[in-house]
Amino acid sequence: MHRMQGFGTTVFAEMSALALRTGSVNLGQGFPDTDGPAAMVEEHVRGLRAGLNQYPPGPGLPVLRQAVASHQQRHYGITLDPDSQVLVTVGATEAIAASVLALVEPGDEVLLVEPYYDSYAASVALAGGVRRAVPLRRDGAGLRLDVADLRAALTDRTRLLLLNTPHNPSGTVLTETELRDVAAFCIEHDLLVLSDEVYEHLVYDGLRHLPIATLPGMAERTLTISSAAKTYSVTGWKTGWVTGPAELVRAVQTVKQFLTFVAHGAAQSAVAHALEHEQAWVTALAASLGERRTLLADGLRACGLEVLRSDATYFLQADVASLGWRSGTDFARALPERAGVVCIPTEAFCDSDVGATLVRFAFCKQDSVLVEAVDRLAAADLAWSGSA
Ligand code: PMP
Ligand code: GLN
Repeated sequence: MHRMQGFGTTVFAEMSALALRTGSVNLGQGFPDTDGPAAMVEEHVRGLRAGLNQYPPGPGLPVLRQAVASHQQRHYGITLDPDSQVLVTVGATEAIAASVLALVEPGDEVLLVEPYYDSYAASVALAGGVRRAVPLRRDGAGLRLDVADLRAALTDRTRLLLLNTPHNPSGTVLTETELRDVAAFCIEHDLLVLSDEVYEHLVYDGLRHLPIATLPGMAERTLTISSAAKTYSVTGWKTGWVTGPAELVRAVQTVKQFLTFVAHGAAQSAVAHALEHEQAWVTALAASLGERRTLLADGLRACGLEVLRSDATYFLQADVASLGWRSGTDFARALPERAGVVCIPTEAFCDSDVGATLVRFAFCKQDSVLVEAVDRLAAADLAWSGSA
């Protein structure tokens, strides 16, 4: 199909298959190797036994819509009507696709912050839109968004900004000042914003995530997306949500009805339970992930890799130019053979060469797995040798 040309198998599926085939430690695809809160899992089982096995209501179970609204109020002071401003989706992935399909007309331009999560580009393509990737810039050891770059990518067809903070793959958390600049830009040019906040709770070192919808003039133009996947270590449950102004949420629901109609019922009731009762578990998860981030970063540095700063998410990036490589993709393809470790080339999230020598490692794994990966890397010859 013409619109999907260039979109083959996702890089996550490709690299996980490679890990399996080569017996590698898989630090590619971002999924945890331990379970979420036990009471939440029990609640899921209870829901299945109690007969939550038929189609739930289209917008989602009332108990989950209420829990999402309460969560936004409690954490960010955002007031939402659970009946008209919250829509439950099959993961954040469906929320992204349905929102883009609902908001983007053929030929409309969508600004993506680059590197961008792969499903953004595919969703824009499905809608017949045109993506404009705006690269994050190197700033010391990290990556930062410069609003001047958004401005430079603007045209009279620009309709939507797809924002992602905390950011996959860099672990960048946009600061309040940056978000205010972005907000002013969106208001000035009357842009809609789709804000992907699935890593909202996985932020380290005392930093805090701020939803752009909390800034003046933004609630009315922003759809905010999140998901249970990362917050509760249930990437397989595919339970997400989109919140925002009633008329925009209604537009997304109109599309969503014909993608999946509804999301899995018992998982919704379990996630509602988690949103209400498992904040202490989430806080402990974030503390532990912050430590695992440091464990992996130190280990990679000891192997001669330049590690970029990551303040959040499951991921950190390394620059393989420090080992003489000119292509992160070549490095990632060679790594299973050389070291028995799998990572993801950042190039898969880019249109420009901004990620050409970067690779992404996931640290959402048990310490023993991270130590095994670092030991394997330390024992291998990782330097560019003139061939992959
Ligand atoms: N957005 C980002 C930035 C992600 O990393 C992911 C991957 N989990 C998703 C969306 C998709 O989330 P879900 O599994 O809830 O569909
Ligand atoms: N979000 C996960 C990641 O970035 C992967 C999700 C997927 O496999 N599509 O690794």
